[in-house]
Formats: sequence, structure tokens, C-alpha cells
Amino acid sequence: MPQLTERLAAIQAEVHRRNAGEPEFHQAVDEVLHSLNRVVAKHPEYADMALIERICEPERQIIFRVPWLDDKGNVHINRGFRVQFNSALGPYKGGIRFHPSVNVGIIKFLGFEQTFKNALTGMPIGGGKGGSDFDPKGKSDLEIMRFCQSFMTELHRHIGEYTDVPAGDIGVGGREIGYMFGAYKRLTNKYEAGVLTGKGLSYGGSRARTEATGYGTAAFARHMMETRKDGLEGRKCIVSGSGNVAIYAIEKLQEYGAKVIACSDSSGYVVDKDGIDLDLLKEIKEVRRERLSAYQEERGKGVQYIKDGSVWDVECEVALPCATQNELHGKDAKKLVKNGVKVVAEGANMPCTPEAIEVFQESKVLFAPGKAANAGGVATSALEMQQNASRDSWTFEKTAGRLDEIMKTIHDDCAATAEDYGAPGDYVLGANIAGFVRVADAMRALGVV
Ligand code: GLU
Repeated sequence: MPQLTERLAAIQAEVHRRNAGEPEFHQAVDEVLHSLNRVVAKHPEYADMALIERICEPERQIIFRVPWLDDKGNVHINRGFRVQFNSALGPYKGGIRFHPSVNVGIIKFLGFEQTFKNALTGMPIGGGKGGSDFDPKGKSDLEIMRFCQSFMTELHRHIGEYTDVPAGDIGVGGREIGYMFGAYKRLTNKYEAGVLTGKGLSYGGSRARTEATGYGTAAFARHMMETRKDGLEGRKCIVSGSGNVAIYAIEKLQEYGAKVIACSDSSGYVVDKDGIDLDLLKEIKEVRRERLSAYQEERGKGVQYIKDGSVWDVECEVALPCATQNELHGKDAKKLVKNGVKVVAEGANMPCTPEAIEVFQESKVLFAPGKAANAGGVATSALEMQQNASRDSWTFEKTAGRLDEIMKTIHDDCAATAEDYGAPGDYVLGANIAGFVRVADAMRALGVV
């Protein structure tokens, strides 16, 4: 990475000092500050009025206790978080993550990324993120319901359709959003559909929201390939993860005619040379909520299941990391490059380490950061908010069509911005600058608040 200017280096040092022990947050901030080198050189006014310092400091951070009862009557406590990062462009918007690794630093990095991602969608949404260190793995439906109700008992006073609109993320899908919406409705005595997105279709959800993040990531990869007059048809692909993002990225890649041969979960990965059987994967992951080893057991011959291995060892031309932060390291990137990878688009938030990104960029692999490539999820959440506000319900085709247009626009904005700032093909720089400029312009107009 290039050296930061003295001014940006001082901001970086202060962010690190003030948020000690939060390495993921530092990583996310450092990447944006490096991109801002070029912005401040061209437009010094963006460094005025402590604008960059303000953008790195969340507007509000809420931490609360979440007590809940398991099925045997034992009491447990977890910690709940909501970081309301930036509301210059609209109400705070961003998912809720339930995973044992959640802490304030993780939620802060996600909220920071979300602020720029949401700006890139062009929709009127600010950035926020929430979650808990609760582990949903192995919990019964009733335990999940009681946890969600307890979580919302505290969170409800901080959110609202004009204030802060949470959605899902790792460990939070349609089931959890339903329980949280039910609790919010009861606590407030209001049917405020636009307070949460990712809702079920029976109570105000949007068609295509479930598919949106994965579909959008695959579309972004396709647009990147098109800049080299290339496509995804017949390409060998790997998608890490096997949750909501991964499943629908696989679905769209298959629709484009690509061959997805591997996916993973936290216990290992499968390689299916004939192409992943998506119906079976959906049944195992979405319905039965089982481990990926079940895929190999049921699909049988020709499928390998590698316990605890790295999915990045599999040879491919297209790689979509769709699992979690920092899941793809420098050594994995080198392996992928050696094996001939052409395009990498992040379906998860910050899945590639800075070293991995450097390897891809130096090797001229097309690389898209999550804040651009996975923005289709939150963009479709904003479409859900539009439908809720107008008491309307769009068709799948209309919603998915809008998503396609949005992904193309994000791609083109990032590419054009990178070019304007003298780094054609650098989607990291393009995304960071295009997102920053939108948030910064609104913040400058709103004064020091
Ligand atoms: N958690 C998703 C993300 O990382 C979606 C957020 C939303 O829809 O608000 O963008």
C-alpha cells in the first residue's frame, strides 16, 4: 500500500488509539484512508471541518445485555450491539449478525463498510450494523424465538423506519427477522413494516430480497469480465460458504452457464466436479440446517468432502468468497493466482485480507471489494422499504430487474471513479472514493453534527 500523507497518517493513528484492540475495524478504516490519499490531493476541501475524522467515528454505539431461557429453563446472557455509524444519507441501515465472534470491533468494521456500501447503491440509506455473540448453532426454534424477543426488547427503542432499519446478516435470516418483527410490533403496538427488511413475503417482505446479495455478486463478477470482453459461461467457479449469500451466488452463476464445483462451511468443503446440486444444497442448509458433510453422504460418488481444508486449494477461474471476514489470506490468493483465477468478487464483508488483495491486484486479477460486489442485498432492502412506504408489493421480475440495473450502475461508477483518479481497473479505490464522496458531500451540506 502507498504511504499515507501526514494528515491521513495522524487520523489513522488516532483511530487506532481510540479503538484499541479492534483489528478488523482498523483494517477497514486503513483501506479507505489509503484510497483517500488521492481524494485529498485532488480536492483538499474534503479534509476540512474534521470531515474524515467524523466519518471514522460512529454517531452512536449501543451495547446491551440479552438474557434468555433455554429449553431446560437455564438462564443465559449474551451481549447485544447496534452501531449507528452514519446517517448523512438516510436512516441507519444494515444487518444484524448472530455469531460467537461478534464484538464491538466487528460490528464497528461492518457498520463502517456498510456506510460506503449503502452510499454506492445510490439509495437514501445511512450505515449501521448490529448483532450479538449469541451462537444459533444447535439451538431449538423456541430458543431462537426467545433470544430474538429478548434482543428486540432492548433494541426496539433505538430503531424505526425513519431512524434505523436493521436486516439479516450471518446467523440472522427470515426466521429470526420474523420473530424480531413480531416482538417489535407487540412492544410498540405499531405495524411499522419498514422498520426491518428481509421480512417474509406474508408480512411485508420483498420478492428477490432473499436472492439479492448472491445474485448481485455474481452479476458484478460478470460485469467485470465484460470489461475484458469475456464472460462467465463455462467458467469453473468456487464459492466459499453455503449460507444465504453463497447459495444464491451459485444459483446465478449456474444461470449464467458457469460451473460451480466447490463450496464450504465452517467444518470443511465439498468438491463436486459435475457442478454443485443446488436443490440438495438448499435442502441441507436452508431446510434441515445441517453440516456440509451431509451433501457428500447423499450425493455420493464423485463428490469429495474435505474436513477442515481450505476451499481455495481448488483450481478455478472465478472465486467468490461468500463466508466471512478474513477467510482468504495472502497464501490462498497466491494459490488461486497460480491456478489461473481471473476474477474475484467478495460476496461476504471483507473476506480477503489486505495481503490477499495486494496479490490479486499485482497479478492483474479483476478484484471487487464487498462494499461494491455485495451491495445488491442492502439495495434490495431499500427497495423493500420503498414497497413498504407505498404499501405496494412488486413482482419478482420488477424487483430483480431493479437489482440488475443497480449492480450495473455500481460497477460502472466504481470503474469510472477509478479511472478518474488515475487507477483504471482498481475497484477497491473506485468503490472507496465513490462511496466516500457521496457521504462526504451530504455531511458537508449538513454542517458539523
Ligand atoms: N447484512 C447485509 C449486508 O452486509 C444486508 C444489510 C441490509 O439489508 O440492511 O449488506
